[in-house]
Amino acid sequence: MDATAKLELFANYMFLEPSEEHVMVQPTNSVSQVSLREERSAYHTCSPFAYPTASCRSSPVEQRQPLSTTASDTSIKGKRDSLGISYAVMPGGKQIALLKTLLTSACERNCYYCPFRSGRDFRRATFQPNEMASSFMELYRSHAAEGFFLSSGIAGGGVKTQDRLIDTAEILRRKMGYTGYLHLKIMPGAERAQVERSMQLANRVSVNLEAPNSARLAQLAPHKVFIDELLKPLQWVNDIRRTLPDQYGWHGRWPSSVTQFVIGGTDESDLEIMSISAELLKKLRLSRVYYSAFHPVMDTPFENHPPENPMREFRLYQSSFLLRDYGFDLEDLPFSTGGNLPLSVDPKIAWAQINLAENPIEVNTADRQTLLRVPGIGPQSVEDVLLARRHRTLHDLRDLQRTGVIASRAAPFILLDGHRPPRQLTLW
Ligand code: SF4
Repeated sequence: MDATAKLELFANYMFLEPSEEHVMVQPTNSVSQVSLREERSAYHTCSPFAYPTASCRSSPVEQRQPLSTTASDTSIKGKRDSLGISYAVMPGGKQIALLKTLLTSACERNCYYCPFRSGRDFRRATFQPNEMASSFMELYRSHAAEGFFLSSGIAGGGVKTQDRLIDTAEILRRKMGYTGYLHLKIMPGAERAQVERSMQLANRVSVNLEAPNSARLAQLAPHKVFIDELLKPLQWVNDIRRTLPDQYGWHGRWPSSVTQFVIGGTDESDLEIMSISAELLKKLRLSRVYYSAFHPVMDTPFENHPPENPMREFRLYQSSFLLRDYGFDLEDLPFSTGGNLPLSVDPKIAWAQINLAENPIEVNTADRQTLLRVPGIGPQSVEDVLLARRHRTLHDLRDLQRTGVIASRAAPFILLDGHRPPRQLTLW
């Protein structure tokens, strides 16, 4: 099988792996009344990426051809989707075409939800490190791909598989002079020295925890060991970043780290998921936690398990951004007695209805952290509010709207110069 055929084979399933800052879209079957524009402006913020963007990372050793319109280039671009190339959002909103793929789909583990699980009857393929590196560089030089996300099924154990991932990264960085964005997976069971080496080569590393604790993981992936194989490597990433100088990292910076949970594969509650998310964001300084709503895959033990409601995934993302960027604590999230978040209401609005509806916040005097609690005010617009009120008192919703705040959303929870604003902006 040639390299293109292998990439196409893997691409069918790479949607299962959310990556980078993919654009978060509110599910269309939503019962929520919140508009997409408001959700995005309030929650879709740039994460603290730990790498410079392509525009500030060009290097003389990169050997990209100028954008051409030859027939072969056009055909490669036309095949982006089929090869597993999708757009990922970078800090500042820049999008890059990211190749997401695997070294091998011949996995020896048997996670119940996974299409690559051992024993499943489907066509498998494997890249050698050299072949993988060459295939990516061909796409990169032709501008079909601008960044690389490399994962793998486990073949011959986590240590051996991690070695092959590192070999691929070494070839790309040292032999082929690739200096662009590289996200490397850390395999379950990888050793600390391998984690450190991966961190010296990548802009981002990740370990998928899949489940919030050992008991839930046993229901999803019986051969993975939650603490020793999955959590420990994430702790090492944080230790290495904390204890070794930045100069040992790729281009003088340690990579960011992320993880992912499968949502709805077991009966786990949102509280279980958000409890560990809060720990990971705060204590292990993860840039982001991904939530992947369960989809049944044919010919797996979970093939008859119902798919998870995408709205649940969306609410979990909103909640994790509240923890990461808005100063919320786990206790602030509106869990039901069963430990789940309401699907019908944005968690920030739910919090504000309980805490601010009768105790509105004076926008002209509140501090940054207090303002961030107000629906419609995000990490960017709060800076603009602080700047604007240095020069003048904000009297009405129109003043507020000029700062980028979603004024209609904030109105029920604020005072402007001592007065509750009308709930709707007047046109004149
Ligand atoms: S380790 Fe599990 S989740 Fe990963 S590829 Fe293998 S079967 Fe799939």
